[in-house]
Amino acid sequence: MDYLQNASELPYELPDFAAVDLAELVPAFRTALVDHAAQIAAIANNPESPTWENTAEAWEESGQMLQRVLAIVFNYTGANATDQVREIEATISPELARHFSEIWLNRRLWERICALPEQPEGSEEEALLRELKKSFIRGGAELDDAQRASLRDIDAQLAELTTAFGAQLQTATEDAAVLLTDEAEVAGLSAADKEYFAKAAIERGEEGWLIRLGLPSIQPVLESLENPAARAKVHEASLNRATGSNEATLLQIVRLRAQRAELLGFANHAEFVAAAETAGSLAAVEDLLNQVTPAAVANAHGEYKRALDKMAVSGTSSAADAADTAGTAGTAGLSGADWPYWDAQLRAEELDVDEAELKKYFPLEQVMVDGAFFAAKRLYGIDVRERTDLAGYAPGVRVWEVTEGEESPVGIGLLLTDMYARPTKRGGAWMNSFVEQSNLLGKAPVVVNVMNIAEPAEGEQALLTLDEVQTVFHEFGHALHGLLSDVRYPTLSGTNVPRDFVEFPSQINENWALEPAVLRNYARHVETGEVISGEFVDAIRAQAKWGQGLATTEFLAACWLDLAWHKLSAAEAEKLAATDDAAAQVESFEAEALEHAGVDVNGALAPRYRSAYFNHIFAGGYSADYWSYLWAEVLDADGFQAFVDTGAAVGESGESNDAAADLDDDDVRFAGERFRRIILSRGASIDFEDAFWMFRGQQRNVQPLLDRRGLSQG
Ligand SMILES: [Zn+2]
Repeated sequence: MDYLQNASELPYELPDFAAVDLAELVPAFRTALVDHAAQIAAIANNPESPTWENTAEAWEESGQMLQRVLAIVFNYTGANATDQVREIEATISPELARHFSEIWLNRRLWERICALPEQPEGSEEEALLRELKKSFIRGGAELDDAQRASLRDIDAQLAELTTAFGAQLQTATEDAAVLLTDEAEVAGLSAADKEYFAKAAIERGEEGWLIRLGLPSIQPVLESLENPAARAKVHEASLNRATGSNEATLLQIVRLRAQRAELLGFANHAEFVAAAETAGSLAAVEDLLNQVTPAAVANAHGEYKRALDKMAVSGTSSAADAADTAGTAGTAGLSGADWPYWDAQLRAEELDVDEAELKKYFPLEQVMVDGAFFAAKRLYGIDVRERTDLAGYAPGVRVWEVTEGEESPVGIGLLLTDMYARPTKRGGAWMNSFVEQSNLLGKAPVVVNVMNIAEPAEGEQALLTLDEVQTVFHEFGHALHGLLSDVRYPTLSGTNVPRDFVEFPSQINENWALEPAVLRNYARHVETGEVISGEFVDAIRAQAKWGQGLATTEFLAACWLDLAWHKLSAAEAEKLAATDDAAAQVESFEAEALEHAGVDVNGALAPRYRSAYFNHIFAGGYSADYWSYLWAEVLDADGFQAFVDTGAAVGESGESNDAAADLDDDDVRFAGERFRRIILSRGASIDFEDAFWMFRGQQRNVQPLLDRRGLSQG
């Protein structure tokens, strides 16, 4: 347990993963809780009168062992969730929730914090004091005894239920994997995909092709499958993931959150969440969603119509016909299962981007090193080099050191990359911290990027889709937010910012993936080494805009669904949860919410996540907050214009590689430095609106987002 009790001796305090013994994690966690509780008691019961040092800074210094243990546990529950790890999480979560309940409800500590003097305006100290007070108030510090008891109870239940939701979903997703056994069913898939799915089948002791549903998206599969019945099977399985197993849990979660919000003086959970974000209120959130929804839905209708026409002229049967022959009533039109396929057919015809050929320009190693890392070097002057002497937490996890300075490089931190899918990894992509940067504690950051790229066959390189390329840049953008942090207090460090701001640096970073000067540096053909052509770049830029009506509407549908659940009052949620048929209750609520949101497109559009598998909001910390991606995208689309305006990027106007030739390296570096100084290095020590304004030079504006998504013309 030594490696958890004390800071790791490895460079940058990288956890000594080789020493991690899963059996020790729960005892270590409990030791850490006792330690932390003692540290908190010492602060609260300090006989000296409260000072900044003995209260705020002492708070910031406390709980380091707990942080070390949790960094390991929570990283494993996402990236390496064996049964044993899930058991550990289930044990730890309620104890941790109770522990923090006790802290937020500690009267003496709260009184000491309230007694601290006002801090200088605009200082990091002022930001920390504001954050501390917010955490305590939102944790119930101002409640009376009876209310406190209720809150403790609710928090403990929520911790158990959200953990159960996530664990159940992972099992259900694995179980819902679709096994295709007939060669005719997999027609249309690339040879590499077939090989990958065949391997997945073998791993499960089956024969055929196993389509797992934990992939970031099954969209590419639906786009490729030529067989309508196979499409229907995959689509159906995807839409019904965890149906019949997670509804009762989610209804209880919704009920408890509504109760909790009321207890804390909010109308509902959605208001409670929005109040802590840069948006500030639910009204501001709905206002933004309402600005984007009609344009997105109108565009989705246009895309639907074009895909339907394409199907009609091709005269091939659809999944609806296939369902017909199976005895189900068919519908005239395009089903949700067929839409991606016919849209992809149309796209192939109109844009003529050969997907298989395109992937050959995107080998993972090039995308990371010559793409994402190269862009960061141009902007921020930092170098990223692999440290093969340092080990990650699983086979295939690589460790990289980030430094700056040419002659005598100064260390900034470590980046771990864990890029390949495995059965014990949750779907999607994310960034996590192992060590948070803090000048007070003398700590440099250690962060990890996790993705779910299909592992290539032995001796071959992973070739990425354009989507995956953008995800590499996105997650590395979060990593940069953590790595370039330069603040005193860990509470304010790196990505510890509101959700609607945290996606701003990551989404800004996505822009560099298609920026010509970066693109031509990494997009080289895996066989010939040839740099991607200008025409191909123009085509993929057009492709990136393709289908934005559908994509945006799917996303907005998920936002509205999330808000519908979390706008319920405690009484309304109580009523829903009292049902004896949870699955039916959830289904009808969902249908009504989507209808009300006005996101229907001829019955063919489903939200990106349906309730039963909406991990983000029921287990992942994005409850009533899925909209935050859109909020941040407004900042991103508008904010990136600052790079364009200062000659650091060509952006949307970059129709080909040549446009980049005019850019001056110094302008790029200067703009990068500004972004680093004003945003990336500041964590939560800033006023977010002010910082954005300072970087952009004007108030944020939603128009660039609509333009970028091609949603302006309707
Ligand atoms: Zn993100």
